[in-house]
Amino acid sequence: MIFNKIYLVIFMFLVVGCVDKTPITGRSQVVFISAEQERALGESSYREFLKNAKLSRDAAQSARIKKIGDKIAQAAQRPDFEWEFNLIEDKQINAFCLPGGKVVVYTGILAITKNDDQLATVISHEIAHAIARHGAERMSHQQISSGLQTLGNVLISVTAPEYKNIFNTAYGYGTHLGVMLPYSRSHEYEADAIGIYLMKQAGYDINEAVKFWENMKQAKSKTQVEFFSTHPNDDNRIKKISELVEEIGKK
Ligand SMILES: [Zn+2]
Repeated sequence: MIFNKIYLVIFMFLVVGCVDKTPITGRSQVVFISAEQERALGESSYREFLKNAKLSRDAAQSARIKKIGDKIAQAAQRPDFEWEFNLIEDKQINAFCLPGGKVVVYTGILAITKNDDQLATVISHEIAHAIARHGAERMSHQQISSGLQTLGNVLISVTAPEYKNIFNTAYGYGTHLGVMLPYSRSHEYEADAIGIYLMKQAGYDINEAVKFWENMKQAKSKTQVEFFSTHPNDDNRIKKISELVEEIGKK
């Protein structure tokens, strides 16, 4: 079985794979989905999501999200992305960014973000996942484990339902997990690092990133929800972020 998997990886790599490098952290990654396919899926999933979502009627808060988002987006330097920012009326403590720059912030997270800098922490963290192609990496892993059938879909159509399911799972989109997408621990730390860099580039106070994660820790201790276990341990995360803030702050 293991050999089959190796051949499959080589085959998929030859057909659709590429070695990419994450921005800022410069980590090499192998992905089996092109940036164009990823963006197309992001776009169609976003449209679908918005059809069923309740847009916030709070014009001031919506404009605030857009203003902060635009600044972070500019720092991300992705002219190929068509950025969009929407505030959704929903109590979940959640936010996400789909490939191509489609960002959603839930009203539930506003109570935890005490100022623009903390909101910038959330948005830049989510944008970091997208520009580092974490979803594409996860999707590629799932393609390997689910076999050739999926590869067929990659080649035939990015909108094939099976392919879409993998996309939704990989990006945590469509799940009701709350509090941002549960990526792996290493992806979370990487998104923290890239996010803080983007925050600084955009002119936000990176010290507030530490405060935001402290607020999150407090909010979690009140809610005791299971999905938090998929995220890095809070104390480790806060410690790492504090170190990053200090390091980046000196530059
Ligand atoms: Zn995350």
